[in-house]
Amino acid sequence: MNDLIIFVLLFAATGAGWWLGRRRAQPAALPMPGQYYKGLNYLLDDRPDGAVDAFINALEVNTETLETHIALGNLLRRRGEVDRAIRIHQNLLARPSLPRPHVHQAHLELARDYISAGLFDRAERLLLDLVKDAPEQRRAGQRHLLEIFQSQREWSSAIEVATALLPRRSLLGSVNTEVLSESRQPIEVVLAHYHCELAAELLQAGDIAEARGQLQLALSRDRNCVRASIMLGQLEYQAGDYRQALKVLRKVRQQDADYIPETLPTLRESYRQLDDGPAMRRYLEDCLQAHPSAPLVLALADDIREQAGDDAAAEFLSEQLSHNPSLSGLAGLISLQIGHVEGRVKDNLAVLERLVQGLIAERPTYRCGHCGFAGRQLHWFCPGCKHWGTVKGLFGNHVG
Ligand SMILES: [Zn+2]
Repeated sequence: MNDLIIFVLLFAATGAGWWLGRRRAQPAALPMPGQYYKGLNYLLDDRPDGAVDAFINALEVNTETLETHIALGNLLRRRGEVDRAIRIHQNLLARPSLPRPHVHQAHLELARDYISAGLFDRAERLLLDLVKDAPEQRRAGQRHLLEIFQSQREWSSAIEVATALLPRRSLLGSVNTEVLSESRQPIEVVLAHYHCELAAELLQAGDIAEARGQLQLALSRDRNCVRASIMLGQLEYQAGDYRQALKVLRKVRQQDADYIPETLPTLRESYRQLDDGPAMRRYLEDCLQAHPSAPLVLALADDIREQAGDDAAAEFLSEQLSHNPSLSGLAGLISLQIGHVEGRVKDNLAVLERLVQGLIAERPTYRCGHCGFAGRQLHWFCPGCKHWGTVKGLFGNHVG
């Protein structure tokens, strides 16, 4: 009987409501003892729905008992008893005598019930009314609307609501920094990712100009949004503006150096299109010195191999591996050597290569810095903790 605790609380709350009503000598607020004992019977018979009905009837709705009704409904929702929470909150809204602020509060709780039940359309209708008509619940309503639009991937609507939630500068120039999204991330960070999501949809539809505009908006909201820079670099590369692609991608180094590896494929292709190998080599060497990572080592080794051959690349890789060991570096070194040996040595190297590749395939490549969620894909929205932009590549020293 896992509902026992919750209904003992219901029972206790009803009793407390009855006692308060009697103590304050308000005969109209007194519950009917019959309903009270009927509820208790339902509880003892393990019939929780009957118990909820009996308690609703026993504890009259008024300004004194409203908080108790709301608290019980919320408790049921948190326990996953959403249907019962909805009945309790709907019961409140069926009372025309309830003062407007209380009606709005019950509306908000009912919207939260609907969200928990996955009834997003109903929740959205309630919240839109609330945002329009109830100034005291507007911000809470907007935050829940944001939650719905985000889960439904309705990015334009999410952008509209998030923009309305942005901190406003006061006349004295101070900014209200309390305004954060549900995940407690700054709203600007979240908003920038919404613009990136919209840009990705526009790119799929082939609307490059609109997508570019959305990515620039993302950067205007959060100038450290690496995702917008990476996407913009890819967009400019596809549009044939290789210099602009490089300009945007090189900014990632200042925004967050942990994301440099994500820029390397488009960056290298852009330098190739411009036929500017020396500039690319200088950039890769600078990055490697300041922010060593396995993908940078491999990119440089690749460049050295193209320019000076396998031996020079192998020498560079061996030297790098001695102070920045990495599995992918080792795999690169083996693949450089395997073409230059024969017989048993070649066979042994092939076995070693398979082993190293197997180890690489087993290891996660990305991890969320907030919740530790690990995987082999870069998720801009962490599936574990629902934070934006907290997943990074594990490409630093001694890994990858
Ligand atoms: Zn996470």
